[in-house]
Amino acid sequence: MRTPLIAGNWKMHKTLAEARELVAEIREGVAAISGVEILICPPVQLLFPMAKAVAGSAIMLGAQTAHEEPHGAFTGEVSVSMLKDAGCSHVIIGHSERRVHFGETGALLAKKVRAVTGAGLQVIYCLGETLEEREGGRMDEVVLRQLEEVVGPDLPAGRLVIAYEPIWAIGTGRTATPEQAQEVHALIRSKLGSIYGPALAEEIRILYGGSVKPANASELLARQDIDGALVGGACLVAGDFVAILSAAAETSSVVG
Ligand code: PEP
Repeated sequence: MRTPLIAGNWKMHKTLAEARELVAEIREGVAAISGVEILICPPVQLLFPMAKAVAGSAIMLGAQTAHEEPHGAFTGEVSVSMLKDAGCSHVIIGHSERRVHFGETGALLAKKVRAVTGAGLQVIYCLGETLEEREGGRMDEVVLRQLEEVVGPDLPAGRLVIAYEPIWAIGTGRTATPEQAQEVHALIRSKLGSIYGPALAEEIRILYGGSVKPANASELLARQDIDGALVGGACLVAGDFVAILSAAAETSSVVG
């Protein structure tokens, strides 16, 4: 059985004082929650203080991107070993905002995911189609290309999490229906099966991301191949994030 993972992508939000307040509230809210992996991904300057803030709780710490090289003259960048030093267990790679605003390509992302797994961390590799691609009937082709560009048998399946994030659903309030999301998750799992074999593919978590909120979390998470969520806007409000975690805990107890 796959333990659900709920990951909060804080993006470029929260000062230190705001972050401390948010994490204190999340800690309180999740004290009674079990059967779900909980991850927060704050901006990089908050990683060290947030590692302290989550210490002794079940909340794990992740980063939103990483440089592909271990060190060097790369002004403004941060390496995976530095993120590990700061207490990160996970790194998000390939978020659509990185692809669009920072020009990250499949070839670059393939290096980044290997830098993450090579350091022993879990990678959350994001992929998803635009509305134009979906409406043009190219959704499957785009999703499979993004998967094949980066995921291969040399990448350890045990350190891989996939996040399916249809770009048209990110930050728009427009969510894929559970049926739409399940269809793509099943496609991704089937492709993972051809890369790793069906047994390993069954163990890889595939998260859904795109306007996940307390109101839609349960029905999304109830689907067979939806193993958690990558949450943007709703993870910045403790009550909403905790409600999504509770929905995941309920779903996992029903499935389990
Ligand atoms: C995201 O940024 O990964 C995301 C899914 O954002 P939101 O939940 O706000 O759509």
